[in-house]
Amino acid sequence: MQSANRDGSEREAVDSGKLVAAFGRNGGTAASRAAAKSIVEAAHARKRWFFCECRDGATLTPVNGTHVMRKTQYSKPHHEDCPFAVEPKEQFFIVRSLRPHPPGSPFSLLRNNSSTGETEQNERVQKDTYSTRRPRLARLLVAIAEASVQRQTFPLKKLGPQFADIKDQARALLLAPKVPVIKMLCSDTSRYEKFIGDFSTQSKRHKWTAGNRPHGILLDTIKGVEDHALVCTDDTRIPVFGSISIFGRATAPVKPWSTYLVAGLIGEVSSGGVHVLRAYIHPCVSEKNLMLVDSNYERETFRYIAELAAEYREQIDIIVRKPLSDIGTRSISENLTEEEAEVQANTVGAPKILIPDFIIGFPQFPDRSRDIIVETLGFSWRAYRDDKAVTIPAMQAALGQIDVIAHDFHFPDDKTLLQRHDTFKASLRSAIEKRIGLLRH
Ligand SMILES: [Zn+2]
Repeated sequence: MQSANRDGSEREAVDSGKLVAAFGRNGGTAASRAAAKSIVEAAHARKRWFFCECRDGATLTPVNGTHVMRKTQYSKPHHEDCPFAVEPKEQFFIVRSLRPHPPGSPFSLLRNNSSTGETEQNERVQKDTYSTRRPRLARLLVAIAEASVQRQTFPLKKLGPQFADIKDQARALLLAPKVPVIKMLCSDTSRYEKFIGDFSTQSKRHKWTAGNRPHGILLDTIKGVEDHALVCTDDTRIPVFGSISIFGRATAPVKPWSTYLVAGLIGEVSSGGVHVLRAYIHPCVSEKNLMLVDSNYERETFRYIAELAAEYREQIDIIVRKPLSDIGTRSISENLTEEEAEVQANTVGAPKILIPDFIIGFPQFPDRSRDIIVETLGFSWRAYRDDKAVTIPAMQAALGQIDVIAHDFHFPDDKTLLQRHDTFKASLRSAIEKRIGLLRH
């Protein structure tokens, strides 16, 4: 973070940690804004803006000593991983949507009175990130994945057993009060045509209470999205009638290495015909490993973790978890209004997003006190680092002060990327060996 003239000239460093605490998504209390007041007032008096490193041209404009504008016609939007991308009051609603879906509660993805556009052709592609509220369809995929493929042991299960685990979760979760997901699940894109052919007969076998319209779920791997259609692994295409959300990216072009899990909502449109009404797509590790990951950085972190877990598997049991839900415990009311969120942000600050990138577990220590958080640090910007300096200790605290190991792609800056990977592997190796040592005593 630097303060500079509006044209970007005469840059000077400022205390970015204070600005992150005052205006970042995880901060926003009146007290933290008061602590940043002298910095903001000085910039305001000199008609200067704060320039963020997350993106060229992303700025904060001082309004007075304790307020800034982050969305102006002169500022580029902040990167979605930048703490300034989200207003503290909006953070409440994002965190709430990232909390685990309450078990036993139906997802109700298609209501009688729904006017969310699924009855009209609505070919939007939107990028889903941790800076936006998680759509309900995404919450369904997350709930299924977290209890199945987001938890892996070594050697990795083959694809068949991974899908069997997914189906087990589809038995446990509900589309409507009396309709388990498994009853209306198509888990093989090559059977999609038959599934929609039988849709009307199949859906009539269930009681769609509580205002739900009959619907089903398509859940399988795909290669990507082209021309508003899902590109299946056998290269056939399934058109999507309404919007498509993709995690972490605006497009999902087919590439030799790309694999995604898709959750598609299947239902009848008012003009007749059964279609995928909307789809949520999340990248997974590979075509052989369905664990959902947020980025290529995480794919790489997972690769190193998997290598070591395989290497040590004769000596210690290791489980790798990749959580996708917020583990925070601060309660957020279902009926929270924007005004109440603003008041709470002002007094106690916004809730932090607490989703560890990976958690390495050792079942021989059943109290989980020897678990390790692994955080992939994919960006070098100060604001991102200042924010991580607050969220990482909060995640450790939420999990009982367990250890954390960072996989840093940028620092130390006098080392090469390869050396940074080696540092990560060496730290993880020594942590695993320490636990093996404890088991032997
Ligand atoms: Zn930024």
